[in-house]
Amino acid sequence: MTDGAQNQSNDQRNLIESSKSYAFTTKIDKIVAWGRKNSLWPMPYGTACCGIEMMSIMGPRYDLARFGAEVVRFSPRQADLLLVAGTITEKMAPVIVRIYEQMLEPKYVVAMGACASSGGFYRAYHVLQGVDKVVPVDCYVPGCPPTPEAVLDGVMSIQEMIANNVPRPWKESWVPGEYR
Ligand code: SF4
Repeated sequence: MTDGAQNQSNDQRNLIESSKSYAFTTKIDKIVAWGRKNSLWPMPYGTACCGIEMMSIMGPRYDLARFGAEVVRFSPRQADLLLVAGTITEKMAPVIVRIYEQMLEPKYVVAMGACASSGGFYRAYHVLQGVDKVVPVDCYVPGCPPTPEAVLDGVMSIQEMIANNVPRPWKESWVPGEYR
């Protein structure tokens, strides 16, 4: 091997070695999912006591910002994570449907607490027996109210779902309930 060829081969080896410190390989859908997972923009829909609990999740103690989801938006067109926290009455159903429809795809829904998940103890004609009667829900967080830790766990489960590109048959095959 000539000196020139030897130098070139050394250069290539050095380049490969140094690239290991800053380069990585991945797939496009993996990196998109990674970005999406870490930049959820929540749309808070707090209607009752659970709404207060939701506020604490945004505060410094529980700090939803640690999960990349601190950019709370009150405009559905800028949000992709609907946090439904509280009792949803039948009168509110069309409003929540409108909000959901205006949100960006791919969008996710968390039903926080017993009321949002199933109507809670309001077995009454005017209360929606679960927000999944009008929008598809990705994660139900139990409790009355749920602890902030439980809600964070719900958000993390959605993040895991996004990172793994988990299919969502409950969204694809969801049919609106009678309140729509
Ligand atoms: S689940 Fe309990 S804490 Fe939450 S809105 Fe209903 S009654 Fe209030």
